[in-house]
Amino acid sequence: MAFAGNDLNDFMEGVKKRSPGETEFHQAVQEVAATILPYIEDKPEYKTNMILERMTEPDRVISFRVTWQDDDGNVRVNRGHRVQFNNSIGPYKGGIRFHPSVTLSVLKFLGFEQTFKNSLTQLPMGGGKGGADFNPKGKSDAEIMRFCQAFMTELSKYIGPDIDVPAGDIGVGGREIGFMFGQYKRMTNRFNGVLTGKGREFGGSLMRPEATGYGAVYMLEDMLHTRGLEIDGHKAVISGSGNVATHAAEKIIHRGGTVLTLSDSGGFIYDKDGITLERLQWIKDLKEKRRGRISEYADEFKGTEFHEGRPWNVACDMALPCATQNEINADEAEALVKNGCIAVSEGANMPTTIDGINKYQAAKILYGPSKAANAGGVATSGLEMSQNAAHISWKEEELSKLLRDIMSNIHAACEEYGKESDGYIDYMKGANIAGFRKVADAMLAFGAV
Ligand code: NDP
Repeated sequence: MAFAGNDLNDFMEGVKKRSPGETEFHQAVQEVAATILPYIEDKPEYKTNMILERMTEPDRVISFRVTWQDDDGNVRVNRGHRVQFNNSIGPYKGGIRFHPSVTLSVLKFLGFEQTFKNSLTQLPMGGGKGGADFNPKGKSDAEIMRFCQAFMTELSKYIGPDIDVPAGDIGVGGREIGFMFGQYKRMTNRFNGVLTGKGREFGGSLMRPEATGYGAVYMLEDMLHTRGLEIDGHKAVISGSGNVATHAAEKIIHRGGTVLTLSDSGGFIYDKDGITLERLQWIKDLKEKRRGRISEYADEFKGTEFHEGRPWNVACDMALPCATQNEINADEAEALVKNGCIAVSEGANMPTTIDGINKYQAAKILYGPSKAANAGGVATSGLEMSQNAAHISWKEEELSKLLRDIMSNIHAACEEYGKESDGYIDYMKGANIAGFRKVADAMLAFGAV
């Protein structure tokens, strides 16, 4: 695979030829290549060593059958994958997703993004991602356990604390990590830091559940500060009602902001007075304990509303997409801008389409892309790995401070590489270049491998 030049179209043609039909992966690569190709234009060492071409090809992709039995005794079959994308700066690290929409394209986009994100944290972690097209909705605890055990039975052959350290993602939270860690331990007779996001009793880190959502709000806060603004007194629209969304909402409220919406795949709730911390706790219980739907909020609390669809037409100052990829299209991005939104911080991975990002940037609003804005989660996973390796556990205050510092450093790196002549900060460009440099330099040191 040789590329004639550093023209974006030529480059993308090569990627598409090698990975046909993988549209999410193409989108993620295009977002990065659009800023990296101009950056390496006058840097022959990266070009002659084909660094970007090598970075867009995963080290390896592992796919396997996951066979399990449902509660009625039926044999069920799903497909599991682990994409070990790049381990140039540390063991592969990235979450596991259980959702019917999981395909190799989705996991390759996530693993590719993860490589840049992990580099941005400045911690020694490579990029990877895994998952299965399994739908956890409506499954009993026993079915979830049997699926997690079957999944880990295969996955355990390819992971380890110095090899590949998975974590949670959509559909994989504390319960699933517990089942998978239990199966890993049973199969290998090893108790180690092979997974992060573990329960506190068996090596999990304080602050890990909060880290992604809190981190996205810290990024938002740092972006607002560049314009002399605070979260206090401003209105936020948030999508999702899982781990990332609820913790982002919590930190917005801590900072004096108002959270107008949360959502799930059925629609969104609108609380014009702002979701309170008490109501947020009710949502966490609904989602984690009762496994209910967000629409129940409007039945429970008078004066609030449930609407089908996505929340991006609700007028707000700040938007935090925290559900899934491509959940904001160009029209929705335009609606956000038109209705007065001044900042977008992405808790979910690649939640805005390329056309949508163009709308933010044309309007020069503050835009924190996912690989920077949601890096707090994996950063705290990195801190969990350090604690496990040293057989210690750090206090909440230490971890909170480390997370805040890491997010500030990420913001500063984006500013350093993304500031334009008119003062506008292109955080996407900044994050891509800052993330690229460390991985690329490590790859140069290794020679042609
Ligand atoms: P959860 O499973 O805890 O929550 C996901 C939420 O998003 C649910 O409310 C879910 O609704 C909603 N959602 C999922 N898929 C869709 C869809 N196709 N359309 C509409 N809504 C959807 O996941 P997380 O909170 O952990 O992850 C959310 C996002 O954040 C993902 O993009 C993930 O990759 C990213 N992320 C997560 C990190 C973490 O630490 N957990 C770290 C970095 C990024 P429903 O229940 O109806 O499916």
